[in-house]
Amino acid sequence: MRNKSIRLLLITQATALLFACTSGTDTDAGPHPGILWVRDAAEFDAIAMQVYRVASDDLPGLVADKSWTAMPGQKSYGELPPAIVFDVDETLVSNVSFQEKLKPPFTNSMLNEWNANNRATAVPGAVEFVKLAREHGVELFFVTNRPCRRKPQIPGPCPQEAITVQDLVEAGIPADSDHVMMANERPNWDREKVIRRDLIAQDYRIIMLIGDDLSDFIPCVRKKVHKPCTEAATAASRQSKTELFHRYWGAGWYVLPNPMHGSWTTFE
Ligand SMILES: [Mg+2]
Repeated sequence: MRNKSIRLLLITQATALLFACTSGTDTDAGPHPGILWVRDAAEFDAIAMQVYRVASDDLPGLVADKSWTAMPGQKSYGELPPAIVFDVDETLVSNVSFQEKLKPPFTNSMLNEWNANNRATAVPGAVEFVKLAREHGVELFFVTNRPCRRKPQIPGPCPQEAITVQDLVEAGIPADSDHVMMANERPNWDREKVIRRDLIAQDYRIIMLIGDDLSDFIPCVRKKVHKPCTEAATAASRQSKTELFHRYWGAGWYVLPNPMHGSWTTFE
């Protein structure tokens, strides 16, 4: 336990240092330092592998412990089969090559276009962890805020879902559309992911949440209000909720560093 605490402390320190370095960046001088760090720093790879190593070490115990859920408030879950809820971008699939070429402002259709035309690469450690989780009989769900938008030349309400499945497969992570849950795929699936997590929790004991954004773990941490949230988050409310759920970090909740983008950037 002590070794694990030290490892997680190192993750926290490295990420805090990184964010301190990237604030106030001159974006005219080329890619944001956060993008360069993810692209070039071996430390990024090391932290990602470290996160998935901790999750791998925890996996057998959390599968076996029927009293455990990584979803605060989940009820009557003891006999449900175990599941893990992953985010996709910068959690399993790396978009750093897109980010370094991006001319802001970002749009989802730019990312979708890029994803359709470029081979996806995995975040270090992700492929091995996914394989291990499946060997332990865990059902895997991929909850992403890539949105569904109809395209005139492509049939179906969510052509972006097929591209997301393809990205995961290209990265070495077998997936299908039944387990990929896109934003707006159903009428009430807004960018607030807790609605999709709650739906999964009806049929599965969620043993882990894995993501790169606070909203992959905690509801209502965005500046923009989405149902079922009723008020905008603040930097202070995000901090206090992060502390409130302190027992989950590195013990059921596993967060990857993302200094490139995320809901945190709206609170600068
Ligand atoms: Mg993400």
